[in-house]
Amino acid sequence: MKIPFNKPFFIGNETKYISQAVKSGKISGDGMFTKKCHDLLEKRYGFKKVLLTTSCTDALEMAAILIDTKAGDEIIMPSYTFVSTANAFVLRGAKIVFADSNSINPNIDTNTIESLITAKTKAIVVVHYAGIACDMDAVMALSKKHNLLVIEDAAQAIDSFYKGRPLGSIGHLAAFSFHETKNIISGEGGMLVINDEQFIKRAEIIREKGTNRTQFFRGEIDKYDWVDIGSSFLPSELTTAFLFAQLENIELIQKKRLGIWKRYNEELLLLEKSGKIALPKIPNYATNNAHIFYIIFKSIEERTALINKLKQDGILAVFHYISLHSSPFYKKQNADVVLENADKYTNCLLRLPLFYDLKRKEQSLVINSIFDFYKSK
Ligand SMILES: *Cc1c(COP(=O)(O)O)cnc(C)c1O
Repeated sequence: MKIPFNKPFFIGNETKYISQAVKSGKISGDGMFTKKCHDLLEKRYGFKKVLLTTSCTDALEMAAILIDTKAGDEIIMPSYTFVSTANAFVLRGAKIVFADSNSINPNIDTNTIESLITAKTKAIVVVHYAGIACDMDAVMALSKKHNLLVIEDAAQAIDSFYKGRPLGSIGHLAAFSFHETKNIISGEGGMLVINDEQFIKRAEIIREKGTNRTQFFRGEIDKYDWVDIGSSFLPSELTTAFLFAQLENIELIQKKRLGIWKRYNEELLLLEKSGKIALPKIPNYATNNAHIFYIIFKSIEERTALINKLKQDGILAVFHYISLHSSPFYKKQNADVVLENADKYTNCLLRLPLFYDLKRKEQSLVINSIFDFYKSK
């Protein structure tokens, strides 16, 4: 492919910081660079507590443990999401209850949530798709009314806001990703954000194999013990050194991505106006962090035809989630559910190449290829 869908990039001091970490004599977890990342993220977004993890998947698994997910608990979440959103809770024995997406964008349709709540419901997990906020006032009102915990899958949502509040700061817990396909990257990587104080102490223990080693290293206790269940969720300093170099330049990275996103939007608007495709819709309460630029087609056939046309021109565009309610794993154990909007996004949404190093000329090739496709129709 001449133009890939995604490409990892250096922004500045990644290799310098990795080398510093090695020379400092510590490349296991919770060293100098992890601390620098924690401080930067807590300061920039006002998060109460940040714990870096080896992935967003791990942060979600920590969240599932922290809220004491048990067999028989029900967790409500959108079907149109990544498998990890669901797996984290399935691993603890929970039953997943899938909600449909909105008609305006792939986020959970908050109007459908209340009818899914039962006496067994423990939590609502929202996913800010493409970094665009869900209607969090509606979600938090349901959380209050029915005494439910809220977890934000903010994997795609770094540096994005809901009514001025950073995504990841609104629910009780939130999980972010620094996977190489996200805006800020460290290969694999993630973080758990804890906004509800009651979870902080136990989160540190779960992340350190069920021991109180974090407290021990802070000098708060004189030996460390096995005190709870847990696993190894903390990233190496090699990862966090890379991540810190990226976080230091978050504004530069976001500016570049937003420029690319806006150009797609402006130039493809013509095709939307002539009724051929639909472009992303951002509600008034949300900001755009330029995580994904997507197009919505009228049919799966048209999407497949355009994917093939782009491929002929050396461009890789990829669709997204096969909604989880139609996955083999879910269908094997559950009755059929009908979620029309989720199905629509599964069949008709396509993501265009968007990465920091995408050149202006390359983006022109993508846009021209799309116009070329519709010229002949
Ligand atoms: C990327 C992503 C994840 C998983 O992130 P990892 O860091 O790869 O574990 C989870 N949920 C959503 C919505 C994602 O986009």
